[in-house]
Amino acid sequence: MGRLEQLRDPSSWRRAFVLVRRFRQEPGTANLRRFDPLVEAVLRERAALHGLGDEALLERARSAATADLADDGDLVGLVAVASEVARRRLGLEPFGVQLSAAVSMLRERVVDMATGEGKTLVGFLVAAGLAATGRRVHVLSANDYLAGRDAHAGAPLFAAFGLSCAAVVDGMDHAARHAAYRSDVVYATVHQVGFDLLRDRQRPAAAQRLVPELDAAVIDEIDAVLLDDAMVPLVLAGDAEPRPEGASLAGAVAAMTAGVEYEVDGERRNVSLLEAGIRALEEHFGVDDLYAEDHVGLLTAAHVALHAQALVHRDVHYIVADGQVRLINDARGRVADRQRWPDGLHAAIERKEGIAVTAQAEVLDQMLVETVARGYRVVTGMSGTALEASERLAEDLHLRTGTIPTNRPGIRVDERDRLYLTAERRDAAAAGRVQAAHGAGQPVLIGTASVADSERFAELLAARGVATVVLNAKNDAAEAAIIARAGEHGAVTVSTQMAGRGVDIRLAPRAAAAGGLLVLGLGRYDSARLDHQLRGRAGRQGDPGRSVFYTSLDDDVVTEHLIIGLDPRSVDPDGRINDKRFRQVYEHAQRVAEGKLLQLHRTTRRYHTATDQHRRLLLTTREALLADPAALEDYLTRIWPAGSDEPRRWTRPARRSLAVEVALYHLDRAWARHLNLLAELREGIHLRVLGRQDPLEEFNLIATDDFRTLAHEAAAATRDTLAAASEDATTLADLGLRRPSSTWTYMVADNPFGSEADRFFEFIGRALRGDRPPAISYT
Ligand code: ADP
Ligand code: MG
Repeated sequence: MGRLEQLRDPSSWRRAFVLVRRFRQEPGTANLRRFDPLVEAVLRERAALHGLGDEALLERARSAATADLADDGDLVGLVAVASEVARRRLGLEPFGVQLSAAVSMLRERVVDMATGEGKTLVGFLVAAGLAATGRRVHVLSANDYLAGRDAHAGAPLFAAFGLSCAAVVDGMDHAARHAAYRSDVVYATVHQVGFDLLRDRQRPAAAQRLVPELDAAVIDEIDAVLLDDAMVPLVLAGDAEPRPEGASLAGAVAAMTAGVEYEVDGERRNVSLLEAGIRALEEHFGVDDLYAEDHVGLLTAAHVALHAQALVHRDVHYIVADGQVRLINDARGRVADRQRWPDGLHAAIERKEGIAVTAQAEVLDQMLVETVARGYRVVTGMSGTALEASERLAEDLHLRTGTIPTNRPGIRVDERDRLYLTAERRDAAAAGRVQAAHGAGQPVLIGTASVADSERFAELLAARGVATVVLNAKNDAAEAAIIARAGEHGAVTVSTQMAGRGVDIRLAPRAAAAGGLLVLGLGRYDSARLDHQLRGRAGRQGDPGRSVFYTSLDDDVVTEHLIIGLDPRSVDPDGRINDKRFRQVYEHAQRVAEGKLLQLHRTTRRYHTATDQHRRLLLTTREALLADPAALEDYLTRIWPAGSDEPRRWTRPARRSLAVEVALYHLDRAWARHLNLLAELREGIHLRVLGRQDPLEEFNLIATDDFRTLAHEAAAATRDTLAAASEDATTLADLGLRRPSSTWTYMVADNPFGSEADRFFEFIGRALRGDRPPAISYT
């Protein structure tokens, strides 16, 4: 590669970016070279271990329990032994770069390590190091499949240290989970752990809990967990009655036309009712003024139904499979298991599709993915795109990230984007490129933005006689197998976004001879980090490979974030734009998108901060009641008038456990009521914009007020229940109380059109701009 070409190569830009950050000591980055002397010591020590007999090596492994990771010598000895065990038991001798990653992670740095460099093995070394020195380790994987695969592969190494290892995945019952969580090293997704924690909080006795106290987490694909999924609320719910007005609204809204009864804003993120629409609804429901205080509920529901109709699209935001609405995870382009939108919206979409409305949920408890991660005392992690996430990892979790060089120099060629006027021209050019590569036997992996795009493009290729394998939200069960074969000679795989993350693509020798894997992105994603993740599929372990993005001015990243008010100066006959300014416009659009995502992330966090604190207070009370007889007496003393002997009566051993159960029952009920109020508030809060209040401030005021009420409410209910209890009552059922019978878990997906606060800011923004969309102009 010539010097000039090197400068244009995005991967060398990335290297430059690293150097600049290091030089400027940017927040969030760490220089891992400081650990080089330790790594060299590990290399020396493990060479000395080669000649050691098996028994002697095991002896060394088992004696690791007394090691102290903060001590350089102990750390070196431990990693050297783990490395030698990996060579003997797994047949893999860690490369120097893997040792460097392991040492850095054991010193609690996050490492950026390219795809295919062997992060799984690094995870084994780190988990073994932490667990051998007495920590309880969770390795958080990107999905169930990887958790199972890695736990299985790592087991022989852990066993050498006398450590047990297990995976927690869907389909395991209580007993199996209970056993798995008692292993020294547990592989699971953050969702499994989060949901089990939520269920644990509902249990009246500590002994029944699944998850022991959280201790150390090693997070694989850490940016996916802590950035893409961080603000996803994990919800535990019980069944509730559906809302009655929905069905009738769906009909009324379905009859409306865009531009007549309602309008959609330029960025396709917001709908508003027009005069004719307001009148139609008023007539339909026989109300005078839809905007009157009395009808806030109806107005909110109408907006939700309109959103469902106009902004949430089948095969983009969701698919319908087996008579169910199944969400597509935005950041991954695949079916998001167990995800729902907020209640009203989810039901509105089900009605739009004419399928049975699933049970409405009464939220019993909820917690953000990020809160799960924050629950660990020690957190470290790895990813091929951690560096792009470093600033946020530092801001949100006080983690520092450093880069590990590749084992062999990367020879992947990252081509400059090819920008076209329209999506049609873009696809035609891209299809031509795929056809040519395929003809030469080069395997091609195509990344698309949506399920619909993947299918359209596959058809386009089929019309040219190129057979493809399509990997999208509709067939993700076969994901790992499909991705694993994407490097075969002449294979053409069309995949949505992050599908197959974590699964290795091995290059067949003939495919390598044909130039290695060609990764072709159809349109850039909303963040450069995801683009980079896709590129990373090519050129692993020093393999040949190439990446290129075919883009157009029709791409969502442009149309949703910018209005371009000028024409390109130079366009090829095939629609390719040669105007340099336009490449900058495209990149600008992506930065705008990234900025919005960050803003959204921050706002969501602010909505949840108070609730998180309240939840911690609640849990502290719960824990104290469960564990400490004095705390129960104290609690009861505060709810009965001074001098009453009731508290004493209820803290006698025979009655105490029932009193605890009753107190917890009422706390949990009050908390559920509180959360459901918050959910309703969030749905309706943007309407308060009309009253010109700051929605976030208003939300926090109401939430804090209501949380105080909740404490009193729970205490009063506990007193009433206990006062009315007969002498022979021993269970909740004897008192006529019942915990929710069926509980289920789901994740609340972001509204595809943004949070309430987001809409608020856009509303204000538009007002300030005089309703003009942003324009780019050059002078
Ligand atoms: P990553 O998670 O970084 O993308 P993986 O952990 O999936 O990478 O590993 C990619 C491939 O490299 C796997 O096939 C793995 O067996 C192989 N591998 C990893 N480390 C080594 C090693 N030290 N020696 C030989 N092969 C290795
Ligand atoms: Mg991996």
